[in-house]
Amino acid sequence: MNWPVIGHELAVELLQRALATGQVSHAYLLSGPPQVGKTTLARACAQALLCTDAEPPCGECSGCRKVQQGIHPDLRIIAPRTSNLLIDQVRELRRQAALTPVEAYHKVFILRRIEQATAPAANALLKTLEEPPAHVVIFLTLTQGEQTLATVASRCQQIALRPLPTAQVAQALRERWHAPPERAELLARLSQGRLGWAATMLDDDASWEQRANRLADLLALRSQGRVQRMRYAELLSRKKPDVARNVLHLWSSWWRDLLLLQYACPEQVANIDHMDTLRNEARQYDAQQSRAFLGALARTARYLQRNVNRRLALELLLLRLPRPAQSGDIA
Ligand SMILES: [Zn+2]
Repeated sequence: MNWPVIGHELAVELLQRALATGQVSHAYLLSGPPQVGKTTLARACAQALLCTDAEPPCGECSGCRKVQQGIHPDLRIIAPRTSNLLIDQVRELRRQAALTPVEAYHKVFILRRIEQATAPAANALLKTLEEPPAHVVIFLTLTQGEQTLATVASRCQQIALRPLPTAQVAQALRERWHAPPERAELLARLSQGRLGWAATMLDDDASWEQRANRLADLLALRSQGRVQRMRYAELLSRKKPDVARNVLHLWSSWWRDLLLLQYACPEQVANIDHMDTLRNEARQYDAQQSRAFLGALARTARYLQRNVNRRLALELLLLRLPRPAQSGDIA
């Protein structure tokens, strides 16, 4: 059986070779964009490690089935509780790691989003990585662009996962998730190569509605004056941090599309379900305005990550949103 992973061929090959030659590391650090497939890859490798067949992962033995059902006693997947990965969770991992495996030769731990580890949790984790019991394999996942302790990273074999090609995401959505071709194509482009994101979006009506609302906000704001823009910035600054981050991400994809149309590259546009509006909008600005606003969006996203004054950062961004050439409104 092939590994239950779509794409990431190089990473899969590297792990397969380690398994085949008995040179599995004690710890792997899988980094990549959110929902690109880091945990999926870790789980596939765990299945191969816990499979009892001669050619793992067979997909049929009791070990494989238990991993697939999420009930294997020698596999633990740990994600940050609340917004932090806590020292209690790492202590529990250490306690479990010291025990001998129940059904397999290995005990496998998948520790997700270690960028959210508190300092004490990261230090406790470091101790585990320094002296791991022989039967233990630990997979850490790290969201691209986030920082983790260099000492933690240095104790792991590091594997960077890259976004999948758009065509591969679209094909997977059609064949594995039976998505209608048009929706598969749209999602593949919007996903920027993150298959996990695309798959969860398939049936997520609330997120589609949210996207429609946020694009409508963007289109309304561009011809609105200072007062409305300030009010929007304030409202957005009071929501949870990931709301502002998601809004900026969506707006960036929109403005990147405008720039692509201004450069006459329509085949790379992401928001293809709004092609008419995009074409009309692209004529309202010049490429320099699009580039400048894309730069402002990227800068604001970085500010928000650093916990600066969120409201001020968003106000400045909103003030930079260019007005369309044919707008009759007055600020
Ligand atoms: Zn198996």
